Amino acid sequence: MPHTKESILQALNTNNVQFLRLQFTDILGIVKNIEVPSSQFEKALNGEVMFDGSSIEGFTRIEESDMLLKPDLSTFLIFPKFSHEEYERGKVARLICDVALPDGTPFEGDPRYVLRRQIARAKKMGFELFAGPEPEFFLFEHSEDGRASTKVNDQAGYFDLAPIDKGERIRREITNKLVEMGFEIEAAHHEVAPGQHEIDFRYAPALETADNISTFKFVVKRVALEYGLLASFLPKPVAGINGSGMHVHLSLFKDGKNAFYDEKAEYQLSNTALYFIGGLLEHADAMCAITNPLVNSFKRLVPGYEAPVNIAWSTSNRSAMVRIPARRGAGTRAELRMPDPSCNPYLALAVMLAAGLDGIEKQMEPAPAIQRNIYHMTVREKRKHKIRELPGDLNQAVDALERSEVLTECLGQHVMEHFVEAKRQEWREYSAVVHQWELDTYLSNY
Ligand code: GLU
Ligand code: MG
Ligand code: MG
Repeated sequence: MPHTKESILQALNTNNVQFLRLQFTDILGIVKNIEVPSSQFEKALNGEVMFDGSSIEGFTRIEESDMLLKPDLSTFLIFPKFSHEEYERGKVARLICDVALPDGTPFEGDPRYVLRRQIARAKKMGFELFAGPEPEFFLFEHSEDGRASTKVNDQAGYFDLAPIDKGERIRREITNKLVEMGFEIEAAHHEVAPGQHEIDFRYAPALETADNISTFKFVVKRVALEYGLLASFLPKPVAGINGSGMHVHLSLFKDGKNAFYDEKAEYQLSNTALYFIGGLLEHADAMCAITNPLVNSFKRLVPGYEAPVNIAWSTSNRSAMVRIPARRGAGTRAELRMPDPSCNPYLALAVMLAAGLDGIEKQMEPAPAIQRNIYHMTVREKRKHKIRELPGDLNQAVDALERSEVLTECLGQHVMEHFVEAKRQEWREYSAVVHQWELDTYLSNY
């Protein structure tokens, strides 16, 4: 049954909820929340809680600093108990909110609104986007002085079993909490690198998936903390071993049917699927700034670690940026492999959809699928197959983003300006630092 204001008030009451978190996400993907006590529940549910947006990264200009939080009632949930001390003062619930201007119109700097706009555009074309993410993360120990470290707490590998996999207990606990919160977990396993894990949850319509990703990250971090560990979604925390990606499985549905499936076509992929893939490939370099938004993201996108480097698609090989898993029929989908879990999930899904829909509108035929391991191809072979490379660093990705009319249209002026400004600043700061590699390589030789 869908939630109503009344059903939520009742649930808050009968469950002895003392605090309600009104949650939203800033442009850089950081989850913010305003917590209100029970006396304010009704006001919160009416969408009348205001906050000062000027203090939130990339949110407002001074003259429009007052913002309203409009809760999306379908996102209501009561948090499970994460620790023993918790709940002494009563339970905590949350609602994910859309951000509006004081007159009630949607705020164009709200990432959720950016995604909503693309979803509406898809709907006009008769499509609904479903997305299933595969977030990977590391569990690290804290150093003796209590600070974050990159020391892993196990030496296990892909799909290893306990007792080697010490992370297993924590992973189960994370899974339990997520299930309590209504997640349908499809798989949870140790990943290739020591200390690295993956938990996959069921695909859902794009907006729900974006909400789920942000909730997921919060729960993983929260449970790990309970065990004294740091859960990190940094794309490449340790050089020389696999980084953490967040592959996203994408499919479009039309009239209740998977629009990527065509029984009679080559690979059983419809023209809609091919054009969508064509759009993803065409806009890949600009998308990268959003799906791989940190300086560090580009240290993951190097050959040899199961992360893509080249703009190509494949029905078999995992070195390609887009892989088509073997499932057909209702499960036909494209797996986009370059995104990493540091991205803002709302903006990331919005640009994927914008790129794919542009491909459909302009009927972009992708170059033929590449079935070989692209890491092993020579430069000449790649040129022959018209395989371009993904941007080599954040600055190049932001250049591509700024050049892209399609993504500028998708993000809107406000998000584009603030995002680019923040990323250029990050790049400038990073570039001015002298890194250990430079000292090791140059110091005594020059
Ligand atoms: N960790 C790899 C990446 O950076 C992916 C491994 C896998 O195929 O699951 O994308
Ligand atoms: Mg994986
Ligand atoms: Mg995958």
